[in-house]
Amino acid sequence: MSLLKRKSRFLFLLLIFPGLFFMSISCQESELDFVIKNGSVIDGTGSPAFQADLGIKDGRISEIGDLETRAAARIIDARGLTVAPGFIDLHTHAERKILQLPSVENYIRQGVTTIVGGNCGGSPYPIGDFLQKVEATDIALNLTLLVGHNTVRREVMGRENRYATAEELQEMQGLVEQAMQDGAFGMSTGLKYIPGAYSNTEEVVALSKVVGKYGGFYATHMREEGIGLLDAVEEALNIGRQAGLPVHISHHKAVGKSMWGNSVKTLKMVDEAVGEGMDVTVDQYPYTATSTGLTVLFPAWSLEGGEEKIKERLEDATLRAKIKVGIVQNILYDRGGGDPATIVISSYSTDPALEGKNLAEITEMRGNEPTPENAAETLMDLHYAGGGRGIYHCLVEEDVIRIMKHPLVMHASDGATIEFGKAKPHPRSYGTYPRVLGRYVREQKILSLEESVRKMTSLPAKRLGLKDRGVLKKGMWADIVIFDSGKVIDRATWTEPHQYPEGVLFVLVNGEPVIDNEERTAMYPGRVLRHR
Ligand SMILES: [Zn+2]
Repeated sequence: MSLLKRKSRFLFLLLIFPGLFFMSISCQESELDFVIKNGSVIDGTGSPAFQADLGIKDGRISEIGDLETRAAARIIDARGLTVAPGFIDLHTHAERKILQLPSVENYIRQGVTTIVGGNCGGSPYPIGDFLQKVEATDIALNLTLLVGHNTVRREVMGRENRYATAEELQEMQGLVEQAMQDGAFGMSTGLKYIPGAYSNTEEVVALSKVVGKYGGFYATHMREEGIGLLDAVEEALNIGRQAGLPVHISHHKAVGKSMWGNSVKTLKMVDEAVGEGMDVTVDQYPYTATSTGLTVLFPAWSLEGGEEKIKERLEDATLRAKIKVGIVQNILYDRGGGDPATIVISSYSTDPALEGKNLAEITEMRGNEPTPENAAETLMDLHYAGGGRGIYHCLVEEDVIRIMKHPLVMHASDGATIEFGKAKPHPRSYGTYPRVLGRYVREQKILSLEESVRKMTSLPAKRLGLKDRGVLKKGMWADIVIFDSGKVIDRATWTEPHQYPEGVLFVLVNGEPVIDNEERTAMYPGRVLRHR
């Protein structure tokens, strides 16, 4: 029952039965909404687990301790289970389909209770309108947003390949300011994407200054994550230095064989910046493949002006040959992992039969040898017929683990709200958190359970400046996950991604269960959170 309904019922009873008032008061004092008994509590700060009961009242954690004798409307016995703060996913694109799929089941099934949308430079716009729409819909988890640089630039300059004029810059600053006033927690860039790729550092600094003024942070999908990675990290840190705001590096990785191992250098750069006194954090998804639109393999100049323009270039023999050179480069040395077989089509609405097939297979189906050149032709034809997304197996486990262990790195999914069964999306949208807890914590012992939970809870909460979530403590909102640390594991795979994880038993959002004994309830207790 919602708080509002509960309150109005109480007021109604008070009107007809004044005597009930006193009973209700005493009742309110003694009866809790929930007691979670006998669990191993991991509070999210990184402190060791301890045995305790948790009391929940009116959506918040009201008591932690021995609650054996306390009456509660509902008691959950968590013996043998871990009780932790609900996971906060700082890096998602889940806002895109949240109005159509407000249950966001692929996230709540993992124990995620708060998501951050608007990443990689792309956000709803205007943010204020969008947040109002979400508020008018019931959602299952809490939503926060960043404002996207690409979105703002597109509003002002379209998809033009040039630097901003002083007037345009001022206009963009105004849009960022409005977004911050509307409740954005910061600004994201997608400098690899269009039109962010056409901006210079000065533009991002100028916009970041506005974000900093409001106490927000700068989150970046950097200009390059393969060749050019080190310069891109330097640029990200410089933006923070010059604009005077915290920097957050999104989905950190080293793309392409020639760059493998460079996480040693990038993490050192982060450490040095922190040593200077900067506030820097990083997020990462626990997989060795990335996922994004197929145009990531195209040279940025060829994407100027939007779809019609791209098609015109693909029809022009000279320009097409030039685009091909760029794509071959990317297949050989960057996102393509050196081999067209490592590029798998994840969604392609023009011909869904191609979903799950790799670019080498599709090239062969067309009667050609799967060389990088022929694969580039295949890719251009696929894009010409209709855009799609891919999965790129271009990372190495050694970097994944090194990045994961760094104390400033939080776990995050970079996933989206998924329509169950549709296309072949990256499994990260279903499996990120259980995969970390099962594969990297329990099986490989890369991190302690407490440290990993910290990277899922208080670390992202701190980045966002959320003071009432991310830690299990009296007075905090009761966003809680109860899981079996001996069993929790992801089940989503590259070939069968639409599988919910195992071992996540209960998930509470603002004190109401959205997952109850591994079943989805009918509750939608999520809220829009605005930056203040
Ligand atoms: Zn991104």
